[in-house]
Amino acid sequence: MLQEIVAQLENSGIKPSVQRIKIFEYFLQNKNHPSAESIYLELKREVPTLSKATVYNTLGLFLEKGLVQIVASDQYHARYDLVEMKHGHFICLSCKEVYDFPYQYTEKYSGLDEFEIQSEEITIKGICKSCLDNMNNI
Ligand SMILES: [Zn+2]
Ligand SMILES: [Zn+2]
Repeated sequence: MLQEIVAQLENSGIKPSVQRIKIFEYFLQNKNHPSAESIYLELKREVPTLSKATVYNTLGLFLEKGLVQIVASDQYHARYDLVEMKHGHFICLSCKEVYDFPYQYTEKYSGLDEFEIQSEEITIKGICKSCLDNMNNI
């Protein structure tokens, strides 16, 4: 696992420091679309020398190198996710939870013939099932 992370960082042109490795590992192990704040709070226990600035800088670097993307943000928090083509996002407008759903790019888009698509994001917004259930139970 560690060697794969180091290789992946190096392939993206990132020098694999301990902090960067930890943060990348966090993304691989937690599919919860964390904010910078929650990554900091989680990893601080394990890496006491970690600073908030390092987390923000590392996320900025990962963004720049295309390893992570911002999937949802409100006025206070950006939420991050690994860049993977294999899933779309459903954002609940009530609880702000971000759900993954399997999604495979298969179709060609009309109007984009002979264009080269390099990335694709699917974001659907609405109310999630558990919020709907809560509303119906009132
Ligand atoms: Zn919800
Ligand atoms: Zn996701």
